[in-house]
Amino acid sequence: MQDIRDESLIQLTDYLVKNKEAAFRAKQVYAWLWKKNVPDFASMTNIPSSLRLLLQNNYTLQHVKIEKEQISKDLSRKYLLQLHDGHYIEMVLIPSSDRVTVCISSQVGCAMGCVFCATGTMGFVRNLSVGEIYDQVYMANELSQANYGTHLSNVVIMGMGEPLLNIDNVNAALNIVTSQDGMAMSPSRITLSTAGVSEGIKQLAQLQPKIGLAVSLHSAIQSKREQIMPIAKSQSLIRLADALKYYHQITNQRITFEYLLLNGINDSLDDAKQLALYCRQFPVKINIIEYNENSHTVFTRSAQQQRDAFMGYLEEKNMVVQLRHSKGCDIDAACGQLANKQCKK
Ligand code: SF4
Repeated sequence: MQDIRDESLIQLTDYLVKNKEAAFRAKQVYAWLWKKNVPDFASMTNIPSSLRLLLQNNYTLQHVKIEKEQISKDLSRKYLLQLHDGHYIEMVLIPSSDRVTVCISSQVGCAMGCVFCATGTMGFVRNLSVGEIYDQVYMANELSQANYGTHLSNVVIMGMGEPLLNIDNVNAALNIVTSQDGMAMSPSRITLSTAGVSEGIKQLAQLQPKIGLAVSLHSAIQSKREQIMPIAKSQSLIRLADALKYYHQITNQRITFEYLLLNGINDSLDDAKQLALYCRQFPVKINIIEYNENSHTVFTRSAQQQRDAFMGYLEEKNMVVQLRHSKGCDIDAACGQLANKQCKK
């Protein structure tokens, strides 16, 4: 049976009308499904029992469940979430002085195979549904209020998976997260992070021009990027730059580059020089990320001196550079580590 949250409001209305129900009921059911995020059809108390039965006999309503919670010394919280078919994904809540951000997943596993990433070692399993993506944001808002006493303020789609390879479901979920029918969250508080899927970036510019875009760059040298991110073989830096120019032209937004510093791999002054040259093509902000060492890969974190020299070079070139400290180092917070452990059990 199909999950009812895979249906749009128009499709749901058509279904009800075909079954001789009043069209306005679709809007009511839709509100229960998204705004109230009820766990089952029985909870839809203003819907006649005959209609609830019709829905129950023809649709499923599958929700994401928390399997495990880990709390870091820095108060970030990582959740292992179980899906209806037994697969696992991850979600991380990250509090800071003025906000609470959730990092959500878009796929089970990932086909991109980035060599520094624990999720990359799992391979691709499947796309998340619209409901599974939405549930993470909804749950994060409830968990934020329960644990930090404040509403969720920001969403980053930066967990397991490549969101632009699941763009239809990600887009549909974001439409509901930002709509009055869902969570009415401002799109400017949402950032999608991609490994650099050029066609997807162009589509995103059309579909969601108000959300932020982050690109995992990690090297501005083609041969080096191919070594650490296999996607770079088919999505060259030239192709990526074309897509980003188009994105900027349509959205007028500045792009964020994520740059994970890997000791001895991409942290030399020549790497910084190539990065500065690449960044001249469009307005960017660069986030330098410290590596979370983990048992799945052989990489290590760059020494502080190396990191400072790298950032210093970029600052000299008047680039906007920020250091992002790793959160939750003590709780397997690098993407995919917790789900990977669960899969291996
Ligand atoms: S870093 Fe992101 S895109 Fe790369 S393998 Fe991991 S989840 Fe996939």
